[in-house]
Amino acid sequence: MPHCDRCDRPFGSDRALEMHKQDSLNHNICCGKDFPTWSRMEQHWIQSPNHAYCQYCEEHFDDEDDLEEHYESSHHYCDTCRRVFANDYGLNQHYRQSRRHHYCPPCDRQFINDNSLRQHLNDAQIHR
Ligand SMILES: [Zn+2]
Ligand SMILES: [Zn+2]
Ligand SMILES: [Zn+2]
Ligand SMILES: [Zn+2]
Ligand SMILES: [Zn+2]
Repeated sequence: MPHCDRCDRPFGSDRALEMHKQDSLNHNICCGKDFPTWSRMEQHWIQSPNHAYCQYCEEHFDDEDDLEEHYESSHHYCDTCRRVFANDYGLNQHYRQSRRHHYCPPCDRQFINDNSLRQHLNDAQIHR
């Protein structure tokens, strides 16, 4: 007789066991895997290349391009580093700290390299 080890329950048929796995909160099935909790399944959505999932909105998207578009329109997103931040402050901190960015905080502007940033810092009146 089919038996669900996780729930320690017997079932009358394989079909009944399958139905149980679909319905039960103890089972979270995705990509042929059975995750013990919803949050473990969510981790899988975040990590798996099979999914384009926004963990901030708990929403699925068709593909990576759709997801990136969503990040850009709805979140504080650094498209250089492909990272999402909780708010503007977090994104600005990232621009300041990351060596990939050449950022002038008072002007809220980015420059393509260190040289143009330095030039800007020397030129602009606003910094004096
Ligand atoms: Zn079960
Ligand atoms: Zn999956
Ligand atoms: Zn989102
Ligand atoms: Zn960045
Ligand atoms: Zn500036």
